[in-house]
Amino acid sequence: MAEADLPQGLPQSLCLTGRRALVTGGSRGIGRSIALMLAARGATVAVNYNASEGPAAEVCEQIRAAGGTAIAVGFDVGDAEAAEAGIKRVVEELGGLEILVNNAGISIDALLLRARGEDLQSILRTNVEGTFTCCKIAARQLLKARDKGRIINLSSVVGEQGNTGQSMYSASKAAVLGLTKSLAQELASRGVTVNAVSPGFIETDMTAASLAGAARDALLAKIPLRRVGAPDEVAEAVAFLASPAASYITGHVLRVNGGLAT
Ligand code: NAD
Repeated sequence: MAEADLPQGLPQSLCLTGRRALVTGGSRGIGRSIALMLAARGATVAVNYNASEGPAAEVCEQIRAAGGTAIAVGFDVGDAEAAEAGIKRVVEELGGLEILVNNAGISIDALLLRARGEDLQSILRTNVEGTFTCCKIAARQLLKARDKGRIINLSSVVGEQGNTGQSMYSASKAAVLGLTKSLAQELASRGVTVNAVSPGFIETDMTAASLAGAARDALLAKIPLRRVGAPDEVAEAVAFLASPAASYITGHVLRVNGGLAT
């Protein structure tokens, strides 16, 4: 590719031009930042949403306004039939798929004695089954992409070290790490890499309640960098793992957590 075709100022090794990406849960928070950043690096992006069609369309509009290409695709990642149809549409409309970012996730917090079985099921359905299902459905396309094929799964610091009141969420995010490491071994022979990004505490709707008031100060005291993270700081890590620069990295857990010990 000629230097002139590269997104402005970007080294070729970080450039995603010609690659097609699907970001689940891309209408807000970290997923939105990931979709915008992959597009800014040159990728064509499918922005998945569950219920938030309007915000997903706005993300696509923002990408198009900056000269990129994006489509919004609605499906619930925990519904295998819907995910199959949604990913089929992505492949048809974009002509293929090189990058899958499993970002969609939910958190329901409760101390063990108050935790409800149905909440555990919802969390596992979205965070674990949803991630697994999207990997499985997208795998055929990613294998065709060979060494351009990338899976990046969103885990969490909580999945690595646990957290009071988050046993259900923590279990789901630990499962994502097991899934990531196994698929990294399974898909490596075809050149496809599979990695996890493990954020610490990032300012989004998901963490709005836990990052308010005195709880915020207590949390900041535990973070060596003494601040919470921004969605773009997670998106940078995802964009790196999606890029040619990360071609020899697989089965890795990239922590974006301000130095929280794990
Ligand atoms: P968020 O709640 O702001 O966004 C999550 C997105 O996922 C939303 O757009 C939501 O609609 C979508 N989603 C939820 N269930 C879905 C489903 N069944 N199908 C399709 N989409 C669905 O959360 P966030 O903070 O942006 O988190 C993004 C990811 O990063 C999650 O996997 C989360 O667990 C992980 N994470 C977040 C933090 C943090 O501090 N915010 C820390 C560690 C890990």
